[in-house]
Amino acid sequence: MADKELFSIKMRASKEESGSAKHISGAEKILSEKQVYQCVDSLIERGLHHDKGEADFLNIKLEKVNEDDVLYLDALQVTTIEVDTYKEGLLEIDKFLKEINAPSLDTIMPFIEQTYSMRGAMLLDVKKLIRLEPDLQRGIRATYMDQDRSGSKSISNFKNHYEEAIVLATKVVNCPGIIGEICISDDPNYLTGYVASKDVGYRRITKLKEAGSENGGRIFLFDSDKATPAEAIDFLQKQVVIVKNVTSLDTMERKNPMEVLAKTNERLKENNLFRTMKSISSAQGSHVILDGKEYVLMASNSYLDLTKHPYMIEKTLEAINKYGVGSGGSRLTTGNTSMHDLLEDKIAKFKDTEAAIVFNTGYVANLATISAIMREGGVVFSDELNHASIIDGCRLSKARTVVYKHNDMADLERKILENPCDFGMVVSDAVFSMDGDILNLPEFIRICQKYKLLSMVDEAHATGVIGKTGHGIVEHYELNVTPDILMGTLSKAIGGEGGYVAGSKTLIEYLRNTARGFIFSTSLSPAIMAANLAGIEIIENEPSRVQRLQENVLYFCNCLKEEGLDISSKTAIIPIIIGDEKKAMDVSQKLLENGFFISAIRYPTVAKGQARLRVALMATHTHEELKLAARLIVESMRG
Ligand SMILES: *Cc1c(COP(=O)(O)O)cnc(C)c1O
Repeated sequence: MADKELFSIKMRASKEESGSAKHISGAEKILSEKQVYQCVDSLIERGLHHDKGEADFLNIKLEKVNEDDVLYLDALQVTTIEVDTYKEGLLEIDKFLKEINAPSLDTIMPFIEQTYSMRGAMLLDVKKLIRLEPDLQRGIRATYMDQDRSGSKSISNFKNHYEEAIVLATKVVNCPGIIGEICISDDPNYLTGYVASKDVGYRRITKLKEAGSENGGRIFLFDSDKATPAEAIDFLQKQVVIVKNVTSLDTMERKNPMEVLAKTNERLKENNLFRTMKSISSAQGSHVILDGKEYVLMASNSYLDLTKHPYMIEKTLEAINKYGVGSGGSRLTTGNTSMHDLLEDKIAKFKDTEAAIVFNTGYVANLATISAIMREGGVVFSDELNHASIIDGCRLSKARTVVYKHNDMADLERKILENPCDFGMVVSDAVFSMDGDILNLPEFIRICQKYKLLSMVDEAHATGVIGKTGHGIVEHYELNVTPDILMGTLSKAIGGEGGYVAGSKTLIEYLRNTARGFIFSTSLSPAIMAANLAGIEIIENEPSRVQRLQENVLYFCNCLKEEGLDISSKTAIIPIIIGDEKKAMDVSQKLLENGFFISAIRYPTVAKGQARLRVALMATHTHEELKLAARLIVESMRG
């Protein structure tokens, strides 16, 4: 009966790295002889070429399994618990621990943290709270298990982490003495984990850690009244187990997709986080019309109030008459006009760099630039308060992201030393969009140069706002060096639309050739390019505008001080922290009733419990408006 014979096949791939073998991938199966032949090729393929790197050592071990030694088990039943945050996920672990009569999460959590640095699982005596693994570094590895593959002819569905986890959990909870298992993945992109026990089954919890965290581990919860540690370890490491009826993810019952979305909307409403939009029926300016009523607008990013400047309108109309409206293609095909070239030259001159490239928005500029430059093996160091478009750019790149404390250059340097890499970038907002503070650029550049890291600064709220003549953060600090990558938007102070990157010729040529957000999107209309050009010209030709904006900032902060609010800002963004989301909304509503449009900013734009009014000033606000606003803000916050 040769075809009935079973084999255990195990593969382990590793790579030599600074003198020691780094684990790359591993797999194990229990198969018939015929299946073993089919399987070997894909095992080798998988071991040699893995996301984690190319292996230089591969070990395949094949052992005959005695049929009589096999323990057949029925797979645990799977349930899924959806949670919004990892903290809610941890509460689910606490609940589970109660159900299996184990100590609470407070007691178990320190042990979970110890698993982060372990290779295998922890075997924890829940009565005595002592660890039972013979080797505390290695931990324990459960092996000799697979799902039942007797019915399958081919083994195409070869590596399925989800099914493997069910097989493992099924073996573990059937082990003598073990009352449950907790598992959190160490893959930074995989937040789902599970708890399992014989009674509870396999319970998936959708978030058990913060995004990007590599803190994962596995604990086997052991009751020493029920078995000896030796019995448990022997079972985990030697008992051959085949698990039947494993539910695969794609045969799980599918949810109604729209119901899933509706549930999220409901949850947002319950938490005062649901958003609606106001419709403005006038040009953007220091005064706008909303539902037929006029309001003083102190929430706009159009800091210099250029959107309806006569020169902007004239130049835009001129371009419309010449070029029409749409651009008809991407920049690299038919969508590049002389207006686009002119604007890029202008930006490069304005920023004192060799060249510049225009993207359709600032959001796309960050996404496309960071993801085009940063590659696998690289590290991006990113300020914790960076704009969402920077965060998304980091996510889209294949590099690792390391977040450092807000504007804390000592922490940045520490993180750089802790995370060696041969290619890296440091990226920061120049003016932070929700706090209005300014990056410590001199130190930022010094550190980037010292460690040969690319420096990238996002000037969305700096261009046209800071620096004596509105040229941005380099002028603000009066430096004679610029960051390698100066990114910004044309849609805030400049009053038009689009995003840009300014830098060396090499950088800009590279982005033209590789930035997907540039290559695969229809370019902005030539008329908008003309508007952007006009906006920059106005900043250059009317320096008093920038001065008036800067003067308004000083004046408004003084007004707040007179009302008893000690808030200072050097930028057009003045945050007034309120904390509670509902209260911030109420204050903003009260101000609206008094004729002032000032936005409340809430999670997820800022942290939970950090809701705020975000006052954004314009060059054209009058002193009377600013004084009245300061008084109304303080009054609305009081009552
Ligand atoms: C607004 C903003 C962007 C995005 O620019 P858009 O042109 O609006 O897409 C990028 N970074 C920061 C810091 C911003 O505030």
